[in-house]
Amino acid sequence: MKTQFDKVLLEEGEIRARVSELAKAISADYQGMDPLLVCVLKGAVFFMADLVREITVPCELDFMAVSSYGSATDSSGVVRILKDLDANIEGRHVIIIEDIIDTGLTLSYLSKNLRARNPASVEVCALLTKPERRKADISCKYVGFEVPDTFVVGYGLDFNEDYRNLRFIAAMPEEGSR
Ligand code: 5GP
Repeated sequence: MKTQFDKVLLEEGEIRARVSELAKAISADYQGMDPLLVCVLKGAVFFMADLVREITVPCELDFMAVSSYGSATDSSGVVRILKDLDANIEGRHVIIIEDIIDTGLTLSYLSKNLRARNPASVEVCALLTKPERRKADISCKYVGFEVPDTFVVGYGLDFNEDYRNLRFIAAMPEEGSR
């Protein structure tokens, strides 16, 4: 599988080590707070599953699915909620778990939407960020890695639903070289 990707950006071991560090930081910051981790489907599923197993304080999970209108590789900032939370988050400490922050438009919408429900706090934990592409001013307390301005796949991240099951994260090969 790996041979078709000429640019592996993050190996499995590096991801595992960083996820463990993020879990340590969250565990230290959220003692006695019973945080609710909100996984944004589908890309953040693997990240959330690995992260939560390293968190050492009691926490709960919930899931949201959103679709942002736009092309396969570019989001428009107009977001539709496909699956809403099961939990009432009023008074809860919420951590949004995202796969990647690109323009930040999806997250900006999502955190505004969740803040309107009167939680005690809302923070963001994103595995990847592409700071060069940012259009929305958002704060992300926990970040795994910065990646360059390139479309990445693997460890939950897809291209037209492919490649989510890769154990590593790679730059998508240019059209024509695939
Ligand atoms: P944003 O609204 O920040 O521009 O985009 C956020 C969403 O777009 C991410 O949650 C992810 O689903 C998708 N996305 C952005 N960049 C990438 C990328 O490089 N690879 C993949 N697979 N998805 C991306």
